[in-house]
Amino acid sequence: MSHPAADSEFRYELCVCRWAELAWPPTDEESTTQPTNDTTHIVARQLGTQQRRWDTVIVECDPEGLAARAAFGDDELDSDLLHVVRNAPSEWVWYRDALPEPDYPWRYVREAVHRAADRGIVETRREGNRIEIKRIAPYPDWIQRLIAIENKPDLDASAADRLADQLSHDVDVGLADEVWVATAETDATVEPALLEALPVEAGILTTDFTGGVDGDAASVAWHPTTLTPTHSSEYRASRQLELAERAYGRGWRNYQTTMRPDCRHFQLRRDGRLLGPWCAAKGCRQSTAECSASCSAFEPEPPAWRTKGWPIEGGPGAGIRQLLARRADRNR
Ligand code: SF4
Repeated sequence: MSHPAADSEFRYELCVCRWAELAWPPTDEESTTQPTNDTTHIVARQLGTQQRRWDTVIVECDPEGLAARAAFGDDELDSDLLHVVRNAPSEWVWYRDALPEPDYPWRYVREAVHRAADRGIVETRREGNRIEIKRIAPYPDWIQRLIAIENKPDLDASAADRLADQLSHDVDVGLADEVWVATAETDATVEPALLEALPVEAGILTTDFTGGVDGDAASVAWHPTTLTPTHSSEYRASRQLELAERAYGRGWRNYQTTMRPDCRHFQLRRDGRLLGPWCAAKGCRQSTAECSASCSAFEPEPPAWRTKGWPIEGGPGAGIRQLLARRADRNR
């Protein structure tokens, strides 16, 4: 049986991200985690470390902490900027006295202080030849848990085998608090042989996006186990914070930065509660790989489309970018 949801891994990934935005955490009578007002979450795609990239990442957050994080702007903070904003004092202090000694040269810290000042996330002033810093607000403790989901719409025996090594690595390292596999529902239940191939700690979600995306489109086939980190909890917390910052800045709608919304055929179409990219020339949901500079069907937006507001607000391509950015904002 063909599963429309499995036809495109990219589309599937967007479906999982949108479902997670609407309905995380998945619950049934066996769930240890139930949705509460004490937790909210943000969703991102294609994030990870040098060793491992996950398809979907969910950051469970403290709602007040997440709201306080907004004071530091919409863009992600890298580890150098985090070093500055997390340690910036409430009173003016020379930056070398205020910040912990780095394990890299101070000149990089000085560069980060200037970058932070340019972004308005720390205050600076010059006292003689010294740069003093002061925080704009305390950087909040906003992350509760980090969840990784691997998307495998067609989870057959060979896909499960390939995935098993990656998931075993995730389980061993324990950087995420939980790892899951999302797979398209079939007529059969998830076969025991597939469950056996995967580490017992990984949860399994079965999804049905054939009628579009909504909050009921996924259910739990196997519950995960909370993972124990192999590194110190301090190391894990700082790696999780860096990943959470990337999730905050990028979300999952940033595909438009690598696709071609400036092509006249690029559209956004509804699929239940997912608003996703659609190629009118090809009559399908195009992947990021095909919707690129090398696409032979690419045609630029006609100049007439751009006359309203051009070049300040641009044509439909710029409008699509703004619409997706607004949606990302609303879900942050
Ligand atoms: S024609 Fe090519 S570049 Fe244009 S929207 Fe379709 S896939 Fe993207």
